[in-house]
Amino acid sequence: MSAQKNHISCEIEQHDGALHDVFLVINGRKIEKTFFDHIALVAAFGVDLAAIDVLTCNCGNAGCAGYFDPLIIETRESQVIWHCIGECEKHLGAGQYVFDKETYSSDIDALQNLLLARIADGVRLPLLMDYAFDDDDEEYDVHLDLAGTVAELRENYRSEGYQAYAWRLKRHYVDGEPWPDHDDDQDEAEASHL
Ligand SMILES: [Zn+2]
Repeated sequence: MSAQKNHISCEIEQHDGALHDVFLVINGRKIEKTFFDHIALVAAFGVDLAAIDVLTCNCGNAGCAGYFDPLIIETRESQVIWHCIGECEKHLGAGQYVFDKETYSSDIDALQNLLLARIADGVRLPLLMDYAFDDDDEEYDVHLDLAGTVAELRENYRSEGYQAYAWRLKRHYVDGEPWPDHDDDQDEAEASHL
C-alpha cells in the first residue's frame, strides 16, 4: 500500500440541535460504525507513540460503546503508522495504515480547522462539553476550547509514564510479546490515559 495514497478527514453530522457527531473518513470512506475521538487523534500527532480509543461513544468513554481495542499511532521521521488492533482493524478496514508524514500533517491541520470553523458557526461537539455548577447549585454547560484541550492531551501523551504505557501496548499488540508482569508505572500511566 503506497503511503502517499492514504488520507484522513472527517464528516460532521447533526445529532440533536447544536450537538453534532463526528465520523472518521479514511481514503474517502466514512467509518459509519461509530463516533470517533477526533480530539485524541489530533493530539496524538506530534507524539512518538500514542494508543488511543479512536472508536468511542459520544460521551468519550469507549467501553460504554463496547470498544476496548486501541489504535496505536506511531510517528516516525517521514511516516505515520496506524496499527489497528482488533475492533479497530475490523471497522477501519485494515490492520495497518502507513501515511506520508507531510500528507498526514496537512490532513490533521485540515481536520482541526474544519472542526474550529464549525464550532465558530455554533456547532457543539460532545467531547468538548462539560458541566459545572453555579452559586445556586444550578448545573450549566461548559464548552471546552478545542486547541487547549488538544494541547493538554498531547502534553499528557508526551509524558514519560504515558510513553512507557504506549510502548508496552505496542510491544504486546503489534510485536506479539506477552503482557509483562505488573510494574509500578503501569497504574500511573493507565490512570493518566483515562
Ligand atoms: Zn457513553
